Amino acid sequence: MTFDLHTHSVHSDGTTTIASNVHEAVALGLEGLAITDHDTTSGCVEAFDEADGTGLQIIPGTEFSAEHEGWSVHVLGLWIDGADDALTTELDRLRNERLHRARAIVERFVGLGIAVSFDRVQQIAGAAPVGRPHIAQAVVEMGGAADTREVFDRFLADGGPAYVPKHAVDPCRAVELLRGAGGVAVLAHPGLYAERSGESGMPTDVIEEMVGAGLVGIEADHPDHTPVQRDHYRDVARVLGLVVTAGSDYHGEAKENRLGSATTPREAVERLQTHRRA
Ligand code: AMP
Ligand code: ZN
Ligand code: FE
Ligand code: FE
Repeated sequence: MTFDLHTHSVHSDGTTTIASNVHEAVALGLEGLAITDHDTTSGCVEAFDEADGTGLQIIPGTEFSAEHEGWSVHVLGLWIDGADDALTTELDRLRNERLHRARAIVERFVGLGIAVSFDRVQQIAGAAPVGRPHIAQAVVEMGGAADTREVFDRFLADGGPAYVPKHAVDPCRAVELLRGAGGVAVLAHPGLYAERSGESGMPTDVIEEMVGAGLVGIEADHPDHTPVQRDHYRDVARVLGLVVTAGSDYHGEAKENRLGSATTPREAVERLQTHRRA
């Protein structure tokens, strides 16, 4: 039995509802599903309601935005208390920061000759924290690129001409906030860090510092990692005593990854869970 520990919904930049994700997880026969929308825990209550009586375990979580030297670092928080004061305060700040940043990114596109409208971006995001995929969709609608992948490749990936960083906390503070909320912190897709800068993934010394702050797991088996990256981060996990996790990073139609296409075995989930605050 396995767990998908990394999924998105319309509560951030995924295109599917929480109800649909829960029902799909049940249909796939998953044992558990982590709800990890970007910088929010707003989908978690609905997930528990939908999963009630199905036998599917729900892990309430978030994919928390941090940054190191101006590059995105994502930290998965699992079993977090969405009502924790310090975490809630930072998540509120982050969502507000995302609005300012989306305006700045829209201005970059306008400067590049692609007349994206901020109102349209907000419309696409709806109640979700506004993110780059929402902006990418607006750019495609304006004819600025054939599809969202092209928008990221040409403009929006970290370091691209329309990229604006988020003014997020550093990765160690992210781990502390997630732990403070009773949760277990897992470094998401370390191999995707600073791709554009030519660096190959998160430097080991930064991961070591995060371990000092209480990091428990590392998503070595992210669908977008190459086999070499998977091996490398498995080695890092062994050396630093981290639990290796996997999740689909499902985003509905916004990404090719299918729900349940990458999963973590129960034994690893149990190891993670020993670090939860009772
Ligand atoms: P944001 O939280 O606004 O920084 O956007 C992050 C999200 O954008 C990620 O979760 C991915 O869904 C998407 N994303 C980031 N970089 C890329 C990329 N190079 N190609 C495609 N999607 C990306
Ligand atoms: Zn996303
Ligand atoms: Fe991510
Ligand atoms: Fe994600």
